[in-house]
Amino acid sequence: MGLKGDRVAIVGAGPGGLTAGMILARRGFDVTIYEKQNRVGGRNAELAFDGYSFDTGPTFLHQKFTLDEAFEEAGRNSGDYLDFRLLDPMTRLSWGNVSIDTTPNPEQMADNIDRVFPGNADGFRRFMADHAIKMRRIYPCLQRPYHEMRAYLSTTLLKALPYVATTDSVVDVLDRYFTDDRLKLAFTFQAKYLGMSPWRCPALFSILSYTEYKFGIYHVQGGLCRISSSMARVFDEHGGKLRLGAPVKQLRFQGSRVVGLDLEGGETVECDHAILNADYAYAATSLMGERSRKPKELERKKFSCSTFMLYLGLDKTYPHQPHHHVIFADDYRRNVEEIQSEHEVSDDMSIYVRNSGVIDPLVAPEGKSGIYVLVPTINTRHGLDWATLGPVYREKVINRIERQTAIKDLRRHIVAERMITPATWRDNLDVFMGATFNLAHTMDQMLYLRPHNRMRGHHNLYLVGGGTHPGSGLPTIYESGRISSNMICDQLGVSYETSDLASALL
Ligand SMILES: Cc1cc2nc3c(=O)[nH]c(=O)nc-3n(C[C@H](O)[C@H](O)[C@H](O)COP(=O)(O)OP(=O)(O)OC[C@H]3O[C@@H](n4cnc5c(N)ncnc54)[C@H](O)[C@@H]3O)c2cc1C
Repeated sequence: MGLKGDRVAIVGAGPGGLTAGMILARRGFDVTIYEKQNRVGGRNAELAFDGYSFDTGPTFLHQKFTLDEAFEEAGRNSGDYLDFRLLDPMTRLSWGNVSIDTTPNPEQMADNIDRVFPGNADGFRRFMADHAIKMRRIYPCLQRPYHEMRAYLSTTLLKALPYVATTDSVVDVLDRYFTDDRLKLAFTFQAKYLGMSPWRCPALFSILSYTEYKFGIYHVQGGLCRISSSMARVFDEHGGKLRLGAPVKQLRFQGSRVVGLDLEGGETVECDHAILNADYAYAATSLMGERSRKPKELERKKFSCSTFMLYLGLDKTYPHQPHHHVIFADDYRRNVEEIQSEHEVSDDMSIYVRNSGVIDPLVAPEGKSGIYVLVPTINTRHGLDWATLGPVYREKVINRIERQTAIKDLRRHIVAERMITPATWRDNLDVFMGATFNLAHTMDQMLYLRPHNRMRGHHNLYLVGGGTHPGSGLPTIYESGRISSNMICDQLGVSYETSDLASALL
């Protein structure tokens, strides 16, 4: 199995690059990953300081079977590397003094709904039944590439068409199931995982909340960043070479082929195939040498929102506070529209608070805990002085947490902290326009219309990560790693085994 000797160079050790790396190394390729930072994981890396360990970005895993499949294709069992915990309850959702705890137990969820939003439990049951069918139709579309128009003629896509070819938004979908607007939000705020407004996010993405309720969400002991380090371990076990602190300056081309990479330090390396995992728009404008596109060109595209982040090391624990807590803005629609405007930073903001210490002793020193705070906010399209605004916004965010949760003394217990603003994502972490969830997932930027898994105009240059098909979010990013790896093998006639755990579950 495999084509030993073919050299694959991967730019970036984020979830997409690591997935492709471990799969291709297992298939016998000579793979090297070049990572700019001194650690693996990208947005899914560990942020460690003063004895605290935070996840930089992802804090929960949904659709776990996709990760399991990626590990299987790399000849491994994810459970041998990672200590997964299915979360029940999953997330507390709060609007003012109204809250609901979500759970993957359907009867319990129906009860919770009836207690907080009487008369809506039946809508939940209908939602789950209808979405089981929708998921079965849409899921296979996310597992194949769309680099050719004829992919639109596949029976897979044709079967999903009624769910895809609609101008409805996810909120329009939920209108059919629930009477209470807050409950509709409980099933549509997941659009924020794509950095989008639920009122604009295409209807097909209502499967996001379905997958949470159907398959649950998982924590990994020690943090989700351990997924990245485990993938790096598997990669290493298969003989993959990981070069940390090795920023790529540019790709080298001969005609339509990539023939190598120039590293920032002056070194040049050759390759037979290249895979870009660096943020798509950043890579397209910065790493393509003379073929780099002008930033202005990319700016014409639609981008996701950004996030304002606080990582707070505390000298106490909050054992009775939820693991995941979403506090909706008082006027959520206005908050979302302000973010969508790309101009205005909301004072009435929505906040996600993560308190993983409730089940995970590995993330803070004993008797202490770490609170991770994420506030969706505008990307940097229109510029804002975050150096000035950041500390001011921090105060507002902490005030709101103290007001809206039982963590009334948060400020007093902060002993260590870090802040990431949209400008940090852009300037320090190479995220184009600080748009943390990549190109927006609008219908005009999806499937064939999203940057292809094999980059248009190139024979041996592939994309993985949130900027290509199927899109942002850990499972879809793992899928992109798998799709691009398979495309390389298909092109070369290299046979490979695939893992399919999904069919039995969907
Ligand atoms: C705050 C936040 C929270 C999120 N929460 C979740 C969640 O809970 N669940 C979920 O499923 N998804 C979540 N996501 C979305 C998504 O899963 C992550 O952003 C994911 O890490 C993106 O992976 P990626 O493969 O696209 O690349 P990235 O993680 O962006 O990795 C790209 C890598 O390329 C490297 N690189 C860039 N330029 C160069 C260069 N010139 N040379 C060498 N290397 C380079 C970077 O250093 C980086 O390591 C979240 C995202 C964010 C930002």
